[in-house]
Amino acid sequence: MSRIKERQPMPQQPAEERIKNFLEVALGYSEEQALAEAQRCLSCKKKPCVEGCPVMVDIPEFVALAAEGKFLEAAASLKKNNSLPAICGRVCPQEEQCEKFCLLGKTGQPVAIGRIERFVADYEALHSNGNIGEYEGPKDPMLAKYGVAVVGSGPAGLTVAGDLAKMGYSVTIFEALHDTGGVLRYGIPEFRLPRNILNREIEYVQSLGAKIVKNVVIGKTVTIDELLSGGFDAVFVATGAGAPQMMNIPGENLNGVLSGNEWLTRINLMRAFRFPEYGTPLKKPKKVAVIGAGNTAMDCTRTALRVGAEEVAIVYRRSRAEMPARAEEIENAEHEGVKFHLLTNPIRFIGDDKGWLVSMECLKMELGEPDDSGRRRPVPIPGSEFIMEVDTAIIAIGQTPNPLIRTTTEGLKTTRWGGIVIDEATGMTSIPGVFAGGDAVTGAATVITAMGAGKIAAKGIDKYIREKYGLPVPSEEPVQEESKGNGQNP
Ligand SMILES: Cc1cc2nc3c(=O)[nH]c(=O)nc-3n(C[C@H](O)[C@H](O)[C@H](O)COP(=O)(O)OP(=O)(O)OC[C@H]3O[C@@H](n4cnc5c(N)ncnc54)[C@H](O)[C@@H]3O)c2cc1C
Ligand code: SF4
Repeated sequence: MSRIKERQPMPQQPAEERIKNFLEVALGYSEEQALAEAQRCLSCKKKPCVEGCPVMVDIPEFVALAAEGKFLEAAASLKKNNSLPAICGRVCPQEEQCEKFCLLGKTGQPVAIGRIERFVADYEALHSNGNIGEYEGPKDPMLAKYGVAVVGSGPAGLTVAGDLAKMGYSVTIFEALHDTGGVLRYGIPEFRLPRNILNREIEYVQSLGAKIVKNVVIGKTVTIDELLSGGFDAVFVATGAGAPQMMNIPGENLNGVLSGNEWLTRINLMRAFRFPEYGTPLKKPKKVAVIGAGNTAMDCTRTALRVGAEEVAIVYRRSRAEMPARAEEIENAEHEGVKFHLLTNPIRFIGDDKGWLVSMECLKMELGEPDDSGRRRPVPIPGSEFIMEVDTAIIAIGQTPNPLIRTTTEGLKTTRWGGIVIDEATGMTSIPGVFAGGDAVTGAATVITAMGAGKIAAKGIDKYIREKYGLPVPSEEPVQEESKGNGQNP
């Protein structure tokens, strides 16, 4: 097997084309590319890459199977630890996780683990006779009478539900919105994560046995206490961090100033870009400023371009080095024509006499000493005020957990900023039988950390229910999963 030194590039829609549509930007590897890339892997005995994976996928194993062209077996290997591989292959920041630890990265380019993962998951969907990988592993029939309620259908909720359903528990996911997936659906745009991919992986979790009930707001329709007294043996809270942080500067209530969450929800979930076919309207923006430089901010800029904005800019108070978004997403935004006003901070939004935003006043900044986050603190430069013309300002400077659950659940311990306090080893909160994980605990983080938290909590819930009812504890052997259609490749 001859090894190629350079990693395989990802084919993409050209920037000038893709800004006119919502189709996926990255087109995925061909079979030849996936083989060539997988064959770069050294199958290291110590598996350093696995250390960088919050759900401990056996990376050398699935990559070695892919290198032999055994893509269905590679998919089965992946799904032992990850129920959402086509999603992770698309949105995980691998450069900060598995690929950061890849041995090849020490002297050159790491194996493109995420791209191979994406290829393998998509290959399985195409070549398993329409079967989305129905689980045939060892469910314990004794567990079916124990019910677990999962609050929220984002990656943390889907993971805990999938893992507990695999064990044999009766799992019901309650979702406040009319559709599932959490940020995967209302936040991340379709040109990064197509809806058919998301739907397919949610269907996979349902095929494991998890039920989903939509339009139920826990804390309003039913409380956590009522779930526990109404027949559920445990509850997992995975309500995310969907409350946007605002800037609290003058003019924030003008028309045309909105949060990143509202902007993305209108476009991604409510499909405002297809108004009037869909009921949510969208005033076509001309000059857009997105304040912030994380993943949410990049998604806001790129959707603004796709709904026809003439000029779109990131306005960020620190420098490029401190931008928290994935490097790939920053590059994509840049190639699509997004401008970057760095070391710049808005201090006031200015409206016309009808209450519509027309401009914002900004201050130039310079970097001072590092702050608590370790990043250099932005310091205003006196007298540097200037006016920027904008008709739409999207504030994407962070999100915190929604207060509803903590204000309606007596005894639930939370941090100063509203994150739910848990025992890291089990995911249990201050209330016995109530577990939590994902952004609701950590604040805004990543898909895979939310999934990692779901995996820990699934084990914690299993242990809690077994101890409560005096059930035998199974051996520590990991649950092995097999997908139907996992035989030989065609
Ligand atoms: C725009 C954007 C882009 C991102 N891009 C990336 C990326 O590229 N890569 C990456 O790794 N991470 C990314 N992230 C972060 C990542 O999406 C989150 O860390 C992850 O989705 C958190 O998962 P979760 O399950 O904890 O919560 P969420 O995904 O937020 O899901 C929570 C769910 O709970 C529901 N819910 C809330 N309250 C209730 C209630 N009271 N009752 C019932 N249901 C309720 C919500 O409606 C939602 O469906 C991005 C985040 C945003 C906002
Ligand atoms: S560290 Fe890199 S080369 Fe080694 S097994 Fe993992 S992916 Fe392969």
